[in-house]
Amino acid sequence: MTVRQCLVLLLACCALGLGVPLLLGVTYSARLSSHDTGFFAVQVDDAIAADAQPRRPRRSVLVVIDGLGHEAAKTMGAIALLREHGQCRKTAVGVPSMSRPVYATISTGLEQDRTGARGNDDETPLFAQSIWQRARAAGMSVAVVSELTWWEELFPGAFTHYDVLPLDADYFAALPPADLQLVHPLYVDEVGHEFGAASPEYAEAVGRADRELTGLLRTLDFAQDLVVLTADHGHSARGGHGGAQEPIANVMTCHAGLGVRRDPEYGHLRITTVAPSLALLLGLPFPAHMRAGDDDLDALFAIADPAAFSPEYLADRRAAVERFRRANEDAVRAWLPDSAGSWDAFTRSGASATAAARGSWSPRWRWCSCCSSSSTAGASSRARPAARPCSASASSRCSGPSPTPCRSACAAASTSARSPAAPTSSASPSPWASAGPPSRSSSTGWCAAIAAP
Ligand SMILES: [Zn+2]
Repeated sequence: MTVRQCLVLLLACCALGLGVPLLLGVTYSARLSSHDTGFFAVQVDDAIAADAQPRRPRRSVLVVIDGLGHEAAKTMGAIALLREHGQCRKTAVGVPSMSRPVYATISTGLEQDRTGARGNDDETPLFAQSIWQRARAAGMSVAVVSELTWWEELFPGAFTHYDVLPLDADYFAALPPADLQLVHPLYVDEVGHEFGAASPEYAEAVGRADRELTGLLRTLDFAQDLVVLTADHGHSARGGHGGAQEPIANVMTCHAGLGVRRDPEYGHLRITTVAPSLALLLGLPFPAHMRAGDDDLDALFAIADPAAFSPEYLADRRAAVERFRRANEDAVRAWLPDSAGSWDAFTRSGASATAAARGSWSPRWRWCSCCSSSSTAGASSRARPAARPCSASASSRCSGPSPTPCRSACAAASTSARSPAAPTSSASPSPWASAGPPSRSSSTGWCAAIAAP
């Protein structure tokens, strides 16, 4: 081979080495499961044994400080205070480390590539059940203070009170009374984008969050109240996020107050375990679609203080985690026998991103156009939603010239696609259908796809 040929070969290899990762990176979001193609998720019905109900905190607060990376959080006095009354864990948020996808994961316990919230601009409500809906179904009031409307867009009707405040407000002082409160300031993220995580401006914004959060913590009684603090992502030194880099994709999660085991060591956590941990500490059933299998749900029982709960309650919850794992394993194995029931193997196979799009398998959850006059099978089920969802319960009906039960329409749509037999236990009516989300439009909805034999 001549020198010239060697150079050409070297250049071609470089171009390939740069081009392929760039292409894969640019198209990453587009390759995730989408509202158009449907989702592989397993719904598990959960209930807490009547005689095992724990004492619920007087007041529970979830603090999500947008853009607060793990290292910056460690500098905060408020974190030291939370560790005094509980424990803090370095938390991997996964990818994409973008706001709306991680809000979805924090709320549902389902990882980003299976919720459908693929980016910040997608306003479509999620099919997956959230901790907010679990709380509402248990009769709790749920209030939000945020600079964005995104939480309500993800979970319409899940909140009893929703305030959107300007950048300069003290979000922590403005929380309206409720059983469960979500406080979500954005100014750390905004400064992170403009100046980067290495800037004095970012440090100043973190200092402001520290002062305002400490103000809230001083009003709480850790013997009766519960606080969980987390974040959606950090920032690079120059500003920006979205990838899996260490300073971007790791945040701090602290649990403190009633029911939390005190532990001075920094542990580890996955962001998917935040919603289940709230459920456990609040005495709520786990979110129905949460990640189970290849998970870190065992961390739940290192977060909960065994002295604060009855042995019956903790045994009931451990059994529930095992039930979720078994149901997920069975479903994944039925969809892809080679996966041996492992979500990680299923995801690595690329199945969830491509099989539904090819129509070779039927995803478990689809957005359905329930009673459009042209709603003939698959075509309408893949239509991009134009409006909010109607309830996906068996009894919900769409208005219009020929009212159609939502689930019947979906069943007709989904059986048009070839699909392997899948466990039927997860195809039951949505448990949150009666508690919300409310019907804002009657023409579309999320429905469980009924797998064809
Ligand atoms: Zn951001």
